[in-house]
Amino acid sequence: MSGSARLLGRAQTLLREPFKRICADMSSCSASGKRLRVLVDMDGVLADFEGGFFKKYRARYPDEPYISLEERRGFWVSTQYGQLRSDLSEKAMSIWESKDFFLELDPLPGGVEAVKEMAKMNDTDVFICTSPIKHYKHCPHEKYAWIEKYFGHDFLEQVILTRDKTVIAGDILIDDKPDILGVEPNPSWEHILFTACHNKHLSLGPSQRRLQSWSDDWRAILDSKRQ
Ligand SMILES: [Mg+2]
Repeated sequence: MSGSARLLGRAQTLLREPFKRICADMSSCSASGKRLRVLVDMDGVLADFEGGFFKKYRARYPDEPYISLEERRGFWVSTQYGQLRSDLSEKAMSIWESKDFFLELDPLPGGVEAVKEMAKMNDTDVFICTSPIKHYKHCPHEKYAWIEKYFGHDFLEQVILTRDKTVIAGDILIDDKPDILGVEPNPSWEHILFTACHNKHLSLGPSQRRLQSWSDDWRAILDSKRQ
């Protein structure tokens, strides 16, 4: 680093400090002053992947067997369809690999409103943390377009696309996938399991927590991490 760059960096640090102090003094800041970083999954938490899949599968394959949302078990839709009949696994995948699948997903009740409210809270940083499918022709683009549609263009700053959420640092990860694994054995976040048709029958360990829906008390979960 050049001498001038180092000086410039120091000047920026000095400029930021008074601002931080003002924020710490503001009565609207939380008592502890700890900044909270919340990671919110997209499919099955904000966007209705299961409902969208079911509707489009039934429309495209009206004569094929199907699994009602009540009967859904296990995270992977394609696995359960493959157990029903081996060729149905690929038919299931053809649905979410199709153009407009991710773009046309309906928002799950209350999710968009909750994330917008979270993003406005003091000392709170919110990111939508989502894993695109490897068939990348449509999915990554449509995920951005969906977020822009429901949250606005500026919210695209708060989007994390990753196949491995364990390497992302945060205090909380709200996600409907029961097992979130990756290269980091000890992720920094606490996983809050968001209830979905495929996971509602699972019993959790004593220390694991659920968010039943966006009408459940997500504010209390955030507050518990500020202590
Ligand atoms: Mg999900």
